Amino acid sequence: MPDKFQIQRLNDWFPLNDCPLVIAGPCSAEGEEQVMNTVLQIVEHTQGKVQMIRAGIWKPRTRPNSFEGVGEIGLPWVKNAGRAVGLPVTVEVANPEHVEAALKNEIDVLWIGARTTVSPFAIQEIADALRGVDIPVLVKNPINPDLELWIGAMERLNQAGVKKLGAIHRGFSSYEKTIYRNPPMWEIPIELRRRYPQIPIILDPSHMGGTRDLIATLSQQGMDMGFDGLMIESHINPDKAWSDAKQQVTPQRLGEILNALIVRKPTMADSGLQSLHDLRARIDRIDDYIIELLAERMGISEQIGEVKKENQLAVHQSARWAQIVKRALEKGQTGGLTEDFILKLFQQVHNESIRHQSKVMGL
Ligand code: PEP
Ligand code: MN
Repeated sequence: MPDKFQIQRLNDWFPLNDCPLVIAGPCSAEGEEQVMNTVLQIVEHTQGKVQMIRAGIWKPRTRPNSFEGVGEIGLPWVKNAGRAVGLPVTVEVANPEHVEAALKNEIDVLWIGARTTVSPFAIQEIADALRGVDIPVLVKNPINPDLELWIGAMERLNQAGVKKLGAIHRGFSSYEKTIYRNPPMWEIPIELRRRYPQIPIILDPSHMGGTRDLIATLSQQGMDMGFDGLMIESHINPDKAWSDAKQQVTPQRLGEILNALIVRKPTMADSGLQSLHDLRARIDRIDDYIIELLAERMGISEQIGEVKKENQLAVHQSARWAQIVKRALEKGQTGGLTEDFILKLFQQVHNESIRHQSKVMGL
């Protein structure tokens, strides 16, 4: 397929020296001081590892009557905070008026949010507003797991002349309850990379995880999978944040997360290593699923615990356990897994399950 994208490589418009492009800042700009203090603290705690500042000015919210952003008044707060520390700044734009206001305030990079990427009309309007403007644009994946829609949005921008283009993977909405706010569905960004290796992909572990505990692991996974950068929400007082309080981290914690990150030298250029890399990424994805499924299984165990408690039944029921083992051994055999392995695995799963049940039964 001829290359549809005419874009400049990330390193050509943002020199990285083998480091990931780390973008950090609050979910929302709330006040001039909050933005400035957050940015000063980020720089203080992250030893040059953060290279761009983010802040939401207009907040697309799923439900009305939540904080919808301070609006245009916040743009100079963000720009001035960036200037104070010598870093470029990025804000989310969702329509041509936002684009115009951001350009007027010399915002360095624009990003497009997941709720906007879903709408080709909205994207086309933004693309038209950007015709003839040389500014980098980062496009978040659409809310729904649709790679074509994501690519289509980037194509519209590219066809309008946006050459400094990147993707942000923030996970996809799913009806199933998982440990993630937006499950990664790694196969989608992996396919994007396979088809258009020249498009940089930034991982947003904050919106993906939805809780601050998941950010370090997700960030490491992103690095292991060869993502080009991270966008992490950081707030001076996360619990008091006006939006996304649960997933924001203090600048100090951000520093710890970034310090612990193992960034492997890019190996994508080497095709032999590329396939090893892809295979490892697939393994990691499967491991994620295993853990998610185990967590889901434990949740069901807890529900069973509630039922047992109401009916005054014992936690351990040996006939049921025997039946579980029998089914697992049979299934394992068809998949070429040894009896010994299946038995040990299920003993561990069973132990954990009993622990969960006992907890809800107050034992
Ligand atoms: C954000 O980055 O604050 C945001 C609203 O993200 P998303 O578009 O990924 O939901
Ligand atoms: Mn947010």
